[in-house]
Amino acid sequence: MSPAVAAISHWIAGRAVTSDSERYGDVFNPATGEVRARVALASSSQVDGAIEAARRAVPEWRAAPLSRRSEIMFKLRELVDANRRHIAEMIVLEHGKTLADALGEVARGLENIEFACGIPQLLKGEYSEQSSRGIDVYQIRQPLGVVAGITPFNFPVMVPAWMFANAIACGNTFVLKPSERDPSVSIFLAELMQKAGIPDGVFNVVQGDKTAVDRLLEHPDVQAVSFVGSTPVAKRIYETATRNGKRVQALGGAKNHMLVLPDADIAMAADAAVSAAYGSAGERCMAISVVVAVGAAADPLIEAIRERTHKIKIGPGMEDGNEMGPLITREHRNRVATYVAQAAAEGASVAVDGRDHAICGRNGFFLGATLLDGVRPGMRCYDDEIFGPVLSVVRADTYEEGMHIINGNPYGNGVAIFTRDGGAARQFQFDVEVGLVGINVPIPVPVAYYSFGGWKASLFGDLHMYGPEGVQFFTRAKVVTSRWPDPSTSKVDLGFPQVR
Ligand code: NAD
Repeated sequence: MSPAVAAISHWIAGRAVTSDSERYGDVFNPATGEVRARVALASSSQVDGAIEAARRAVPEWRAAPLSRRSEIMFKLRELVDANRRHIAEMIVLEHGKTLADALGEVARGLENIEFACGIPQLLKGEYSEQSSRGIDVYQIRQPLGVVAGITPFNFPVMVPAWMFANAIACGNTFVLKPSERDPSVSIFLAELMQKAGIPDGVFNVVQGDKTAVDRLLEHPDVQAVSFVGSTPVAKRIYETATRNGKRVQALGGAKNHMLVLPDADIAMAADAAVSAAYGSAGERCMAISVVVAVGAAADPLIEAIRERTHKIKIGPGMEDGNEMGPLITREHRNRVATYVAQAAAEGASVAVDGRDHAICGRNGFFLGATLLDGVRPGMRCYDDEIFGPVLSVVRADTYEEGMHIINGNPYGNGVAIFTRDGGAARQFQFDVEVGLVGINVPIPVPVAYYSFGGWKASLFGDLHMYGPEGVQFFTRAKVVTSRWPDPSTSKVDLGFPQVR
């Protein structure tokens, strides 16, 4: 690696901090395959320094008036809005998605900051006057203290915003451990937060890998851990952090199905399947990776998807007109290609083979969009989350068979039905064991004033991410029972308190 390659720092107590260890990771430009930067991988003691900075910032920040916190979130909203393009370009250079896609990510992250601007309303408590004679009962919600967020590579702005917007607005201080694959933008966000008026120490970034994560999970001053990533890591994080007495929400991987009934508009369903399968090169936790085509829908649908798949423009995300970029690393690209080979060996038919696409001859981690037909549960391409531009089609004879397949899958993140029959859609909504459901909507990521979360192996913990459940996650309830009696009426009473 050339010595001119930039080093990406941590952000602790309001300033960029270089690494105290010799450990670095390479950060690639996936469109060229070149190393564009190296990221510091924090040692445990450096993580301790970030947690200590966050701990010191708690008393002042939790005491800041709600309107002050709201005002700062408004300023942050304005700064992120004004820097949309710059932020999106930073995402493209390290993640590889197209600029339009990255701008969409920034817009969805911004929604979470906008939601947090309403924190005075969101933190209003409950009050019951005269719960008993002269006694009032009320509930208030208070911040937890130091909280941590650990985020995946595929949304380096939106997923951190799912967490930090509510966490900080609620009065907590935050330590972010972003993905080591695309870490630069987290430092830019930290700078914007400082400009917005967030006091030093309230938002900190530790770059790193498992070493940094493990320290966050065991440190006694970290009260809660919010995680998004793959299922094996999510499960481990949930088990470790809960064992250490922390509050945890750990969102995992996915295998999202799209059920297409015979009455659906085939062209519309094909447009949706192609957009949701190949957008961001399939590196979205809400990507559609399996179409379940029911009965007579199958043949025309596969043909319509095949036709559209061939037309996708693939290339560097910064070049105008490209609709799909590269994958995140060479290893990941090759792993996805291996799934295609294995699918063919297991009896699936490769209707469109992305490995043959001309783009694969370029530098960069490119793979063409791939369509597999005749896929069944039990094949590796069905059972595993591939996280690449590979769409599998499973054929089912009936709605019931399709539902059986979907509900038999261990993941339960997102799902969609395409139909023109309102009754069938309503039945689907009732039957399906998945947390986020789309009716003629292929990527049902809820707006910021609802909450996001899957079921089964897609989420470990009770509370979903962002929105009202995010506010609940980052606060704890305190219930106060209060009376202001005339002291002359006071007497000893050993009976258990009851309403009088
Ligand atoms: P990942 O699990 O490899 O990494 C996520 C985070 O965990 C990163 O910060 C990483 O540094 C850290 N990490 C990785 N291995 C670790 C280990 N052994 N111990 C401790 N920490 C570890 O995930 P990724 O490849 O960055 O992201 C893709 C995955 O995230 C996919 O599975 C995708 O479905 C999932 N995802 C889920 C959602 C959701 O909302 N459910 C959203 C986005 C992404």
